[in-house]
Amino acid sequence: MKKSLIFAGLYLSAIFVFSHETINGYKSGPDRAIFFPDTEDYLTISSDLHTHSVFSDGHVWPNIRVAEALKDNLDSIAITEHLEYQPHTKYIPNIDRNDAYKEALEAAAESDLIVISGSEITREMPPGHLNAVFINDANDLFNLDRTKLPEAQQLIKQALGDAELDEDDRVVGEIYALGNLWSPVEALTAAKKQGAFVFWNHPMWSSQARDGIAKLSDMHKLFIQNDLMQGIEIVNTRTYSEEAFRIALDNNLTLIGTSDVHNLIEWDYDSTQEEHRPVTLVLAKERTKESIREALFDRRTVVFFKHRLIGKAENLNPLLKSIINITSNGYQSNSEILRIDIQNNSSSNMVLQNLSEVNFANSDDLIHLPKNGKVSLSVKTLGKKESQLFKFKVLNALIEPKVHPQIEFLLDI
Ligand SMILES: [Zn+2]
Ligand SMILES: [Zn+2]
Repeated sequence: MKKSLIFAGLYLSAIFVFSHETINGYKSGPDRAIFFPDTEDYLTISSDLHTHSVFSDGHVWPNIRVAEALKDNLDSIAITEHLEYQPHTKYIPNIDRNDAYKEALEAAAESDLIVISGSEITREMPPGHLNAVFINDANDLFNLDRTKLPEAQQLIKQALGDAELDEDDRVVGEIYALGNLWSPVEALTAAKKQGAFVFWNHPMWSSQARDGIAKLSDMHKLFIQNDLMQGIEIVNTRTYSEEAFRIALDNNLTLIGTSDVHNLIEWDYDSTQEEHRPVTLVLAKERTKESIREALFDRRTVVFFKHRLIGKAENLNPLLKSIINITSNGYQSNSEILRIDIQNNSSSNMVLQNLSEVNFANSDDLIHLPKNGKVSLSVKTLGKKESQLFKFKVLNALIEPKVHPQIEFLLDI
């Protein structure tokens, strides 16, 4: 009797251990690491602030999100479930809307990944979907007033007509419709009370903007005026919105790029084709949650998307200075041809256009710098010099819609 109890105890503790096992499989497979150097003044923190799991309409457990983030070499991640859209509610009732965050936090405990708490406040347009990150309690950001059920049912009827819903869909639909009846201003005010940073998700999403053009509604303007919304996605999944970029610059909103992943990152972004998930590079003073939050409120971000870097000049230019390095290898013997290496210290392929006064002997003015690689150039300096000024336009970077930044280097030879 005693012996079998011990065995039962061992068995239970084994289950306990296994149930909390972290995922190791992420270490195999192709290298997906996203890497950017720090700037002179800030740490460059790579972040994906918009992801989903089975706790709303995603299809993986939160620990997979953590493993994917580690595989992508991210510094931080937020799991931001739809508060009002809960299609798996039959299997995962998700009574405490903080549970996905808790699961992710536990899965990341053995790593140095920073897991940020967040939620997606989900409405029809306007205002559409909004992410609140750095929250304390997701449960305060949504409200289902059951006395409004007849109103909610009316909304469902308007949207779907007389289509028969099965029991599961009816429950999901009622939660969503009831959630939509709660004022978004009240939801954002609750987020603000918790010190949340809020951004508008996918303003260019064709389901909510038929022409694909991001436009500020009066409601969004009100959010901005009342400091209820501080950022905007200019990149979501595989979409980029030039209009959202313009809105961000005109209204001093933080530029955000996210994966909004629902399935598997590796399926969505094939690393064998040099694809990568979009991320927000946050320029933070320290590698801490509080410092990331502070940087987001201070608008210190650059978006990395399809090997493009998009940011305000004040943030992007110092980052480019860290990414690109030029070194001299001296003059070729008996010639006035200078040999230089241009190094790319990042996981973004870079494309430069030469604007210097000098030309190259082994290249035209278009320079493709492979990620984590270098290009060796022969420079016709017209006489032997002690220093040479190089000037490039960075064609895969944007400081405004359609405007590429320029960088200069004075190279000692
Ligand atoms: Zn959304
Ligand atoms: Zn989403």
